[in-house]
Amino acid sequence: MKNLFPKNLYQKWDELLAGVTNVLLATHVNPDGDALGALTGLGSWLRNKGYSVSMICPNAYPSFLEYLDKDNRIVFYESDTERARTLIEKTQLIISLDVGGLNRMEELGEALASRDVPKILIDHHLEPSEEDFDLVFSCIRVSSTCELVYRILKTWKPRTHLSKDQAVSLMTGLITDTNQFANSVLPQTLEVAAQLMKYGADINQLYALIYGTYSYSRMKLMGLALQKITILPRFGAGYIVLSKKDLEGYDYQNGDTEGFVNLPLAIKGISVSAFFLEKEDYIKVSLRSRGNIPVNIIAKRFYDGGGHLNAAAGKSLLPVEMMEPVLIKALGTIIA
Ligand code: 5GP
Ligand code: MN
Repeated sequence: MKNLFPKNLYQKWDELLAGVTNVLLATHVNPDGDALGALTGLGSWLRNKGYSVSMICPNAYPSFLEYLDKDNRIVFYESDTERARTLIEKTQLIISLDVGGLNRMEELGEALASRDVPKILIDHHLEPSEEDFDLVFSCIRVSSTCELVYRILKTWKPRTHLSKDQAVSLMTGLITDTNQFANSVLPQTLEVAAQLMKYGADINQLYALIYGTYSYSRMKLMGLALQKITILPRFGAGYIVLSKKDLEGYDYQNGDTEGFVNLPLAIKGISVSAFFLEKEDYIKVSLRSRGNIPVNIIAKRFYDGGGHLNAAAGKSLLPVEMMEPVLIKALGTIIA
């Protein structure tokens, strides 16, 4: 496999790590499989190399990802702010993962920005905020941040091996960010997956953990989401709106709607989809597409967000009834 980055970046990585004992890893709001896989995979690897490692997320992760954090090492800035602040005060090096810039970590990002210690970014989003960091490993031609982490670690000298837990962590990001190896898959992605399998990551077991532990109420909620798909034939688009009222009676837990945005894409002729979830004081917007439809552009322009060409997200402060007209306007700017 090709080296993704010039040699001087790895030299800088070595230099920055050589001077410290305390390292802090952080990732984005609403951490997903890729964020958590990269955090725990790299965290464990650094710990095995003798570093004292802390891991902080802005807020909690969905419960199905608990297997990545068996020892409950991850600290949530939102609910455990004092402890997180103490760790941030103590750290000598900050590594941000799967996040384009410190601003996608909300208050955690502000706390990290205030520390004058070297900062490294490892990320696969478009246009990362390079100015926030001293060293940037950024590449969009990979499936996931977990793939990036793996390929960086494999260039480490002396040659390094991964533990089974580390392989499981990194494989989680490959599986979830590619939507089960359906999107953003390049030959190297499968090569990395094969190597992670050799280190002991069992894909069958992981599928059961990731996609086979849903609650009954979550499946019922998916039924409602399916009922609520609306098609916009002119754009080959489908969307779903779930309001706070819709969620009543489904014992809604954070993360329960993970993946719902992909449902309209299973319909023939649909190549762009949107999912709107009404939260306490805003509407979370998720966008997906196939081919060259750049949903990241409308995420940025209409929903104060961003992301990748085929997977992006943001938020809206408008009422739920406005989601359809705004979406139609937004799609008009990217689809002829
Ligand atoms: P999801 O719909 O799964 O929440 O997000 C889809 C993609 O968009 C993810 O890759 C995520 O990193 C990116 N994304 C989500 N929210 C934001 C945001 O507020 N700003 C930016 N720049 N990217 C986002
Ligand atoms: Mn990712």
